[in-house]
Amino acid sequence: MKYFDAHTHTNFVAYNDDREQVILRAKDAGVGMNVVGTQFDTSKAAVVLAEKYDNVYATIGLHPVHTTKSYHDVNELGDGGKEFTSRGEIFDAKAYEALGRNPRVIAVGECGLDYYRAEANTRELQKKTFIEQIELANKLGKPLMLHIRNAYADAHDILKAHAKVKGDVHFFAGNWDTAKKFLDIGFTLSFTGVLTFTHDYDEVVKNAPLDMLLSETDAPYVTPVPYRGKRNEPLYVQEVVRAISRIRGEGMEEVSAQIMANSRRIFGLDKIV
Ligand SMILES: [Zn+2]
Repeated sequence: MKYFDAHTHTNFVAYNDDREQVILRAKDAGVGMNVVGTQFDTSKAAVVLAEKYDNVYATIGLHPVHTTKSYHDVNELGDGGKEFTSRGEIFDAKAYEALGRNPRVIAVGECGLDYYRAEANTRELQKKTFIEQIELANKLGKPLMLHIRNAYADAHDILKAHAKVKGDVHFFAGNWDTAKKFLDIGFTLSFTGVLTFTHDYDEVVKNAPLDMLLSETDAPYVTPVPYRGKRNEPLYVQEVVRAISRIRGEGMEEVSAQIMANSRRIFGLDKIV
């Protein structure tokens, strides 16, 4: 593996017609991927894929918007958002623990807090479910894959109080002050194809230590330039790495090698058979 897509959803319905081709296209280009669950069914599906393909690993957990009745916004989530149907799932720690013990499960998530899409009266339930998943990660000794939206301060407080493991802040969308707070407690930041079409995160990407950055596609969402308008897929993580290299003014070879090394370190990939 030369590249690692630290957060992707090839388990989603968006890939029902060509899932295998998408995964093998990535494999042929040396791209490994972490397929992330968002509720129980997509978590199970992620584990099935990780057992089938050697360039695929899985993350299991309950997304904060699925702890409660969530709405599905096509404009925000793009195509393939059918997975985000309205359902409120109660986190079943035992069932997730059984999935999480699978050796190809490399993290717990995506879990966290979303104050943007979910109503204010769901915040207490979101926090409770987040803490339960941190406790599962502690028990399994596996890192956290965090989804945090408009809730960085609360999420940081909860991590400081409960987390005995480290993890990754997926789709980081804060400023440098916020970034520093997560870096200080040992959490990596991952970036998507958004870097190819806005300069909003250039300061964070430039200032962060290279050994604390990960690349991700969040496919099927946020397709990078030059593939805008098409469905995203893990193969395109190379464009994210290219953007990080351009923004930092460092060579593509050096940046891709370091990001791959970071992924191996954070997710313990070398220990997995
Ligand atoms: Zn995601």
